[in-house]
Amino acid sequence: MLEFGFYIPTKIHFGQGKVEEIGKITGAYGKRALVVTGKSSAKKFGFLQVIQEKLKKEGIEVLLFQQVEPNPSVDTVSKGAHLFKEEKCDTIIALGGGSCLDAAKVIGILAKNPDPLEHYFGKNKVKEEIPPLIAIPTTSGTGSEVTPYAVITDTEKENHPKKIIADPHIFPREAILDPALTISLTPSLTSDTGIDALSHAVESYLSKKAFPLSETIALEAIRTIGEYLPRTINNLEDMEARSYLMYAATLGGMAIALTGATILHAMGYPLTSNLGFPHGRANGILFPWFWEKSFPGNPEKFSKIIVNLDKRAKEYQIKDTRESALLLKKFLHRSGLPESTDIKIEEKSLVSFTHEILKNKEKMLVSPKQLSFEEILDIYKKALLA
Ligand code: NAP
Ligand code: FE
Repeated sequence: MLEFGFYIPTKIHFGQGKVEEIGKITGAYGKRALVVTGKSSAKKFGFLQVIQEKLKKEGIEVLLFQQVEPNPSVDTVSKGAHLFKEEKCDTIIALGGGSCLDAAKVIGILAKNPDPLEHYFGKNKVKEEIPPLIAIPTTSGTGSEVTPYAVITDTEKENHPKKIIADPHIFPREAILDPALTISLTPSLTSDTGIDALSHAVESYLSKKAFPLSETIALEAIRTIGEYLPRTINNLEDMEARSYLMYAATLGGMAIALTGATILHAMGYPLTSNLGFPHGRANGILFPWFWEKSFPGNPEKFSKIIVNLDKRAKEYQIKDTRESALLLKKFLHRSGLPESTDIKIEEKSLVSFTHEILKNKEKMLVSPKQLSFEEILDIYKKALLA
């Protein structure tokens, strides 16, 4: 029987030049904004200056926190929250990639909730809603602007695991999606983040929690990324392609906001924490092998994905696991994923990653196929040792 919930409360402003509306949008919430950015790109490419100018024009005071690193740490968000409270800010503006958006969400949690951060790791643990957060993504990848998730690196633990906070209290209030802010992304950042968006859409579509509306959103994201990610990689200045990529990344975010991701995302995390792969690339490296092993769990859905991703697949009439995995692999390479990795890793590390993944019962249960220890280890080996 059909059963689902739907809650994505973020108001979206989409279009080239929309970032200029930041003053008016923020003015509806407060007078003292903490602007959270990464260490360099927001300033280097001039986005921060535009925002500062528009906020000042509206009479809004700006406090800057420009310290967010990729895969933000507990320490960084604690510093940001300290600044928010000390300066008596009333609004947060996040300007940057997913790391920045997630850091801003967690700064908001710590600003309004009294316990140490680890108390909020997991699902629905946050008691008080974060202050009004306006998210301005500068990558087309995570979709964090429309998700109730934040991913934080726990630098206090061995191996620096990624911890997830999932809670409706952390949704951004508004999101400004201005594709012009993504034009400065390098080929590898465009590829890594685009592949992250693709994995969100694919995993949501395949999740056991999927329902007709989430599937429709996910397929629209897959079809759009299929058309526009390779086109952007071929011409980084193609604004139309960049726009559609940003649209697709937000759809991918909506899809995982409704269903969550699957074991593929969980498997990618240790490749970032332990081996330093960017988040999207970690998913991309594992993707074809995850595909091959999981295909028998739902051949119909896998086939539907591939014909939406690659129009030519229809002509080939894909019905075979290997054939479709190969098409996915080719698509990922056309989208900028490197053909090989030069990382040196021992099998015993992969064994320990596999033990950790198997503890994630929730992600296992929603995945399209229940993978065994041997199957998960084999995915890691094929992706990293072959
Ligand atoms: P990111 O870690 O935010 O940024 C990667 C790099 O891109 C940084 O060095 C950043 O520089 C640079 N950059 C950002 N925008 C740029 C631009 N317009 N031009 C040039 N360089 C730019 O990358 P991301 O893939 O967007 O975010 C990854 C994080 O999000 C991970 O921690 C991942 O776990 C998390 N995530 C969250 C969700 C969610 O739902 N919340 C979903 C998936 C992933 P600066 O640092 O100098 O700005
Ligand atoms: Fe992701």
